[in-house]
Amino acid sequence: MSSAPLLLKNAARLENFGHSLQRVAYVFRPQHTDELPALFEQARAAGLSVGLRGSGRSYGDAALNTGQIVLELGELTRILEWDAGTGIITVEPGVTIEQLWRHALPHGWWPPVVPGTMFPTLGGCLAANIHGKNNWQAGPIGEHVIEFSALLPNGQQVTCNPQQNSELFYAMIGGMGLLGIFTSITLQLKKVYASHVRVTAWTQPHLAGMLAAVDEHKDEDYIVGWLDATARGRALGRGQLHRATYLTEGERAPQQANLDLPPSILGIPKGALPPLMAPFVNNFGVRLVNFAKYSADRLLHNNKTYLQSLVEFNFLLDYIPGWERIYGRGGLVQHQSFIPAAVAEPAFREILQTAQHRGLPPYLAVLKRHRPDKFLLSHAVDGYSLALDFRVPGDPGRLLALAEELDAIVLANGGRFYFAKDGMLTAERARAFLRPETLARLLSLKAQTDPHNLLQHDLFRRCLVS
Ligand SMILES: Cc1cc2nc3c(=O)[nH]c(=O)nc-3n(C[C@H](O)[C@H](O)[C@H](O)COP(=O)(O)OP(=O)(O)OC[C@H]3O[C@@H](n4cnc5c(N)ncnc54)[C@H](O)[C@@H]3O)c2cc1C
Repeated sequence: MSSAPLLLKNAARLENFGHSLQRVAYVFRPQHTDELPALFEQARAAGLSVGLRGSGRSYGDAALNTGQIVLELGELTRILEWDAGTGIITVEPGVTIEQLWRHALPHGWWPPVVPGTMFPTLGGCLAANIHGKNNWQAGPIGEHVIEFSALLPNGQQVTCNPQQNSELFYAMIGGMGLLGIFTSITLQLKKVYASHVRVTAWTQPHLAGMLAAVDEHKDEDYIVGWLDATARGRALGRGQLHRATYLTEGERAPQQANLDLPPSILGIPKGALPPLMAPFVNNFGVRLVNFAKYSADRLLHNNKTYLQSLVEFNFLLDYIPGWERIYGRGGLVQHQSFIPAAVAEPAFREILQTAQHRGLPPYLAVLKRHRPDKFLLSHAVDGYSLALDFRVPGDPGRLLALAEELDAIVLANGGRFYFAKDGMLTAERARAFLRPETLARLLSLKAQTDPHNLLQHDLFRRCLVS
């Protein structure tokens, strides 16, 4: 890689999940973790920084490194150790959530924390310290990591767990790939007695009802809310909730050999759905669809309890592959804020109203309950998160101006942000939520693990260096 032609051969265009950013980088796909030290050396010799990338499922620029090197780690997919008796598994960082559940579920184990999609890698999930619809109950994925090994840019190979190298353990999990590369990850999986959960769905007519319902059911295994973010007035924040519990030993569950997501929805093949949805991806269309969905949820499916596979319940966003492309050329960005429980209602009210008043209503809104954790760059609070998907308008400046307003509301309410989703924070606003002491701690650890500041990405330069 020391020669320019070799680098140019690897130049490729990468995108974020929301397809709002296209960036060229020199992309390398190591086949084995043994190749990583030499790649660090060569990057240093070429005077380039190195960004890490798993499946590229982050909404913003966390896995982009414009004009620099990107190491795509998605081919490091070996399962290194597996004990079907204890549910302890050791994997390479490119193993995906999908690979994990397909491997473990037949033995009665399930990933303890999963995001709304099964395609992320374990390396990417640890780097972001992902949360699921069970964050109040189970905490983030980092709380289920028994141990990991990592290669640091200073050449050291380290093993970290809550007792050994514990500061690095709590900083690298959630550290967005800035301190080192996870090379193997040991996780404790969750024992399950069936491949299904018992789900109850019901509606609430306004934001206060949604928040109260999520809080009331936070001790169940899973709880999540969908909000109609286009509803106004007394109906502001209305929506539908789903709570779910694992089945207990001996409970009867359907014998379902094939746990793949269904190939069609309402009889329509999934591939045919994006073109049918596209005409509704505008302010009027989304209002109409949300109204229809909420009305159907309230009239036809209210207070229904049913069994659903863990796969279908958890990976709703994977039902329609490539759905994010219906947002068109500008793509999609997400704004997810985490607000303390005591002030969540007025804060989310203001956030929803501000977006509506600016003519940029969120097209998808998801509500979850969270609790604090011990990780250095934690995004969690004792409160709620509201994840809002926005179509990037023809003039993206309008959305950036809205983000500035929304961020001000979040910061005024003691809220936090999540780097896996963020694409619009500034260094000033990131510093305000992280607090200068946390940022200083991160940068001091980085000076030790990465003295030449080799590990970087676009998000790092946007948010973490002033
Ligand atoms: C549809 C959808 C739904 C989602 N739902 C949720 C959700 O419910 N909860 C949630 O928490 N998140 C959610 N996410 C976000 C997603 O889980 C995170 O962005 C996750 O980090 C993606 O993993 P990845 O493998 O794609 O990582 P990438 O996006 O490729 O990278 C993410 C970060 O990980 C770092 N990284 C990657 N591999 C390594 C490694 N081996 N060592 C060190 N650092 C590494 C990268 O540098 C980067 O900073 C969702 C994303 C999508 C697209």
